[in-house]
Amino acid sequence: MSVLLVHSERFVEHQTPPGHPERPERAEVLDVVAARSAARGIEVVAPRAATHEQLARVHDEEYLRLIASTSGRATKLDPDTYTSPESHEVALLAAGAAVDAVERVMATAHHSAVALVRPPGHHAERDRAMGFCLYNNVAVAAAHARASGARKVAIVDYDVHHGNGTQHIFESDPTVLYVSTHQYPYYPGTGATTEIGRSAGSGFTVNVPLEAGAGTDDFKVAFSTVILPTLRQFEPDLLLVSAGYDAHEDDPLGGMRLTADAFGAMTRELRAVAEDCCRGRIVCVSEGGYDLRALAASLDATIRALHEPLAPASWPTSPFSSDRGERAVRQTRASLMPFWHFA
Ligand SMILES: [Zn+2]
Repeated sequence: MSVLLVHSERFVEHQTPPGHPERPERAEVLDVVAARSAARGIEVVAPRAATHEQLARVHDEEYLRLIASTSGRATKLDPDTYTSPESHEVALLAAGAAVDAVERVMATAHHSAVALVRPPGHHAERDRAMGFCLYNNVAVAAAHARASGARKVAIVDYDVHHGNGTQHIFESDPTVLYVSTHQYPYYPGTGATTEIGRSAGSGFTVNVPLEAGAGTDDFKVAFSTVILPTLRQFEPDLLLVSAGYDAHEDDPLGGMRLTADAFGAMTRELRAVAEDCCRGRIVCVSEGGYDLRALAASLDATIRALHEPLAPASWPTSPFSSDRGERAVRQTRASLMPFWHFA
């Protein structure tokens, strides 16, 4: 009952223009991480392509036709988002890897899984490509879990950017909890504490926007006082993680100061919640992370946190003090007080 990796060597075939941060070299990092993990005895499987039915749970038909129509062509879908001739097939594999990871974990063959994919997904809206993302991989995975019998699914998104697509897709749905830490204000502009979900989904969107410069202690405060208590009260049947690593201190896009060990600590905290709530069922789906060395180290730390015997998270000590976390959680708690109990 160990961690499983879902990975394809085809992720390099999604090409972006020269100088684009979401570059094919990121796929080579995924290859290295998969090979290193396999050498440690971790099972690695190849994904199947996501099906039309799986994608149509979270994307509009017209949008699915648009992305399919880019097959064999290089196109520009938004100011940051491009396709190359193979992108459509590769994106189907990325979403399919997230689905396969969920299926394996729901079948309890494995407690946990990591889908090592690109392109990332969390900015993709129901009807629009955005921010390097074509299909919303984690949203497709969450909808698949729901369709496969999970009553409640939680998504924790620690990418440095807010997952606007994931939030919007599930904002009216009380069966999918979306929780995000992100740099704010920053791209894509969403993710204020006042965005708490809509209608029946009110209270099931939890945003912890952090000012640039936030570090380990700030994330630790966000986890201990808001994220973990909310997850435990929600009691998901499956915990999904939008695992982006652009909040790493070396990342060229993000302005945060996390280390690989901090990502390991966050993953250990989430795994502990999964052990208590849903028999350890946790699936990480890779998102951003644009410094190749930091991406590799952070993915390794994440996989180790799921593979090693469960132990209390040991957060690295922060070399500086900051009250960014305290300030953010005060606002988040004020917005969500009617819905969740915070100690
Ligand atoms: Zn990001």
